[in-house]
Amino acid sequence: MAAELPQETGNLFVLPRPDDVETARSKLLSNLPSAGLGTGTANRHLRDDVVPGLNKPSQSSTFYGFVTGGVTPTAAFADNVVTEMDQNVQVHLPKETICTVVEDRATSMLCELLDFHPADWPHRTFTTGATASNVVGLALGRQFVIHEAQQRAQIEHLSTVADAGLFSAMKAASLKSIQILTTVPHSSLRKAASIVGLGRSSVVDISRKDKLHQFDLSALAWHLKQDCTASIVVISCAEVNTGLFATHGDDMRKIRELCDQYGAWLHVDAAFGLLARVLPESEEFREVKDGVAGLELADSIAGDAHKLLNVPYDCGIMLSKRLDLAIEVFQNPNAAYLNTASSETTASTDRAIPSPLNIGIENSRRFRALPVYATLAAYGRQGHRDMMERQIRLARAIAAAIVARPKYFELLPMGEDSEICRRLQNIYIIVLFRAKGDKLSTELVKRINSSRRIYISGTTWQGKPAARFAVASWRVDVERDLSLVIQVLDEVAASSTD
Ligand SMILES: *Cc1c(COP(=O)(O)O)cnc(C)c1O
Repeated sequence: MAAELPQETGNLFVLPRPDDVETARSKLLSNLPSAGLGTGTANRHLRDDVVPGLNKPSQSSTFYGFVTGGVTPTAAFADNVVTEMDQNVQVHLPKETICTVVEDRATSMLCELLDFHPADWPHRTFTTGATASNVVGLALGRQFVIHEAQQRAQIEHLSTVADAGLFSAMKAASLKSIQILTTVPHSSLRKAASIVGLGRSSVVDISRKDKLHQFDLSALAWHLKQDCTASIVVISCAEVNTGLFATHGDDMRKIRELCDQYGAWLHVDAAFGLLARVLPESEEFREVKDGVAGLELADSIAGDAHKLLNVPYDCGIMLSKRLDLAIEVFQNPNAAYLNTASSETTASTDRAIPSPLNIGIENSRRFRALPVYATLAAYGRQGHRDMMERQIRLARAIAAAIVARPKYFELLPMGEDSEICRRLQNIYIIVLFRAKGDKLSTELVKRINSSRRIYISGTTWQGKPAARFAVASWRVDVERDLSLVIQVLDEVAASSTD
């Protein structure tokens, strides 16, 4: 069935003018009111003073900053229902509430959308975002690799991180260090490494010299072989500055074999890359599909539903093959009042649904599954595929427009792909570029954003300022949005004094 998505105005983002921010700040309460303003006054205060832009859609810009994602109409409806219900989804109570069953269906339909077998991913849950999913992935990896090292050393009394702690478990395994081997990692991976006690400096970038995003497989083998060292391998799927993928074609299988050989855990950070799996098998998307080939070989995968699945914040995706390890790590022990017969099922077709509090970070949690369930129900595979196709086509059209203005702009990175046509086929949803003149190059993001019609974000590439478009909203209309982007780029180029 075709998706029925209303084609409203652009992906609206209300961009306050700097003086609006100042005015709003001056109107914020400085202290706790003792009597309270009352509901009516407080609501008016929010609408008129705190987020006044909500009343002025004509002042909004089309947003291409960071990688954010929009909200589909059905997901927005579902999210309001979630707030209205205020249901706490932490314990599986199948005779009292359907929430955990909805969560299970939402995660299994999500697996179908992504072309995974739900049965291969018994540990699946919604987190607050990909950062939290990376924390969960590294915590599972840490539990696994130390356990594996002890077993390989034939140690009789196994000592796990979850019970004995990192220090004792590593000592029992005669391990001196745990390393995280990756290429072009997202900043949240180092943060996750710090949270789980492995440390930011345990993240080792083993990129190829000629292709920064890809693994140097011989360096990977060399690191994995190190004595007294256990490893977690993390795939950047895709990298946030360029949208390029770390693996292609057969790479995942080769990396999987190395991980099996050396007892390593294989985690994928697919915050926004994951949705590339809904694309059809066609020449147009072959390069991108190749970048998400073989993800089913991973032990765990982090994703973001609040990015390209277009549900509201906060919704991250966590999939792993090891429910047993998840329960070892996340079990909320000895809380009799939270007990449930977790093996109880509502119908003979349901699997035994684990209580969310025993397989993830939080105990109390929002009913995050409902917007995901709703958007998958409303638009199905076809609708979500269509959203992705439109977003990628817009990104490629923007890239082509940049390439067509060589006097002013330069698409990045070009590397050895001097063939423009091939480079465009590698573009997923991100377009990294810079201006050619030095002055325009430093001011590019500011000049584009001060048009107040589109908003992009800045970054650096090889030590120099660069800019990026990230297309991440279901509202994309390729022709309409491209013409707006071209207008702004041309105006900025025309005003260049370089
Ligand atoms: C956005 C992103 C993250 C962090 O996701 P949050 O939802 O902000 O926690 C992690 N990895 C990659 C590759 C990302 O793009």
